[in-house]
Amino acid sequence: MILSTHYTFSLFLLSILEKQPIIFLYSIFSLLPDIDIKFNEHRKITHTFLASLIIFLIFRNNLIFLAYFSHIFLDYLTYMPIPLLWPYKSKYCLRIIKTNGMTDKMLTFLFLLLFLINYFLLK
Ligand SMILES: [Zn+2]
Repeated sequence: MILSTHYTFSLFLLSILEKQPIIFLYSIFSLLPDIDIKFNEHRKITHTFLASLIIFLIFRNNLIFLAYFSHIFLDYLTYMPIPLLWPYKSKYCLRIIKTNGMTDKMLTFLFLLLFLINYFLLK
């Protein structure tokens, strides 16, 4: 998924649970799993249940955990497998959405719209 889809999806999810501006900051954690691209290791340990658990244990914050895990969920929907159960070597994906494809880009706007409605209209 493209970064904007990850961020807007996280914003939408968090806005269901919290209506404070802090969700804009927490949603940055939805971008964190792709930090592995900087180390030429895309979709490895940062895209696992274990990494999500570590994030939860470090921050002890359900919204940060949800933001982080939302990234892994969306990447799971793509055609590029992720090692959800690392250190087991099996990789998983549902092959529903092509990263950077038309659906991916349209989801950014859908999630943005849902977030805006949820955050500003449904208080
Ligand atoms: Zn990713």
